[in-house]
Amino acid sequence: MAKRDYYEILGVEKGSGASEIKTAYRKMAMKYHPDKNPDDNEAENIFKEASEAYEVLSDETKRAKYDHYGHDGMRMGQDFGSYSNMNDIFSAFGDIFGGGGGSIFDDFFNQGGGRGRSRQRSQGERGADIKIRLPLTLEEIAKGVDKNIKLKIKTKCNDCNGYGAKNGASGMSACPVCKGAGQVREVSRSMFGQFVNVHACDNCGGSGQIVSDPCPTCSGDGRITGETSVVASIPAGVESGNYLPMRGKAHAGRRGGEAGDLIVVIEEKEHDFYRREGNNVIYHLTVSWPDAALGTEITVPTLFGDETIKISSGTQPGTMITLRDKGVPELNSHRKGDQFVYINVHVPTSLSSKEKQVLKELADSKNVIPKDNTDSKHKDFFEKVKDVFS
Ligand SMILES: [Zn+2]
Ligand SMILES: [Zn+2]
Repeated sequence: MAKRDYYEILGVEKGSGASEIKTAYRKMAMKYHPDKNPDDNEAENIFKEASEAYEVLSDETKRAKYDHYGHDGMRMGQDFGSYSNMNDIFSAFGDIFGGGGGSIFDDFFNQGGGRGRSRQRSQGERGADIKIRLPLTLEEIAKGVDKNIKLKIKTKCNDCNGYGAKNGASGMSACPVCKGAGQVREVSRSMFGQFVNVHACDNCGGSGQIVSDPCPTCSGDGRITGETSVVASIPAGVESGNYLPMRGKAHAGRRGGEAGDLIVVIEEKEHDFYRREGNNVIYHLTVSWPDAALGTEITVPTLFGDETIKISSGTQPGTMITLRDKGVPELNSHRKGDQFVYINVHVPTSLSSKEKQVLKELADSKNVIPKDNTDSKHKDFFEKVKDVFS
């Protein structure tokens, strides 16, 4: 099925301003939010679709990319590090409606304690998420890489199996606040009318149980601070800003609560001699002017090993040689970018008297003098680079 236009999804004009888009999204989010439409797949799909559209159109860079390339330009975001499930949507959702306690969403967003988990009650409190930056070299990005990430985090206490009670179940008793139910009912008023709020009991974190005899190792928290390591498998073709959500790999939850998520944000390190432009790689090669005049073969590095290229006789400065498929692979695709080798011609700066002699003899010969030194057909280097990417 073809993807629908993001503007169409939100029901706004292409030139709409940021606040108009936000308002349109807010309206849809309120109508189709899964908490208001339990077990309604259609509503959930509309909500997801609108959230995806908003994620793109609310971000200036992404919106420009979308306006220019359409959905193809967004492919990257959808395949890797996009909203792969509802929880991701909720976290972004928090961003626009959050800030200050006056959000009109508070009523039904904060049920259950965790973002988007109101329908799925868990024991204890959910552990905190961790966001880390992962610097990668262009070589690693070109091939994909498994990175071992060491984390100092709160991990489950093994002495009490994470529940915080000294002797397992016998160290627990029913919570006096909710009488073991784990939930508290509250009636509240909002602009939508009267709500019956059922939320997790604060006293026991929704488990209905409290620790009466705490585990001495973790003092009843269910967690201890420890080191763990996780392996992040980064596919080839990522770029700075892409992220990999790793479910349950961050802090353990308090008293048996589910673990938070580790968000690995990719950061591309600057390369010593390559410059990345999309999936293409730019490389500058300086040759001597006799080599440029006479022609030669030169070995150049690529992301996938050395390649020998032919410099034809009479090669001009700024000439570009394309090495097909030697660029960065497109994310989740078999296509690859190219490597562009730009030729610069070196003019010697210090010469021996013998070399000067030879050059002086050459200087006056007919083929060495440019025929037309106002030649405008030879675009300068930067214009050529621009042409390649325009
Ligand atoms: Zn313990
Ligand atoms: Zn309770």
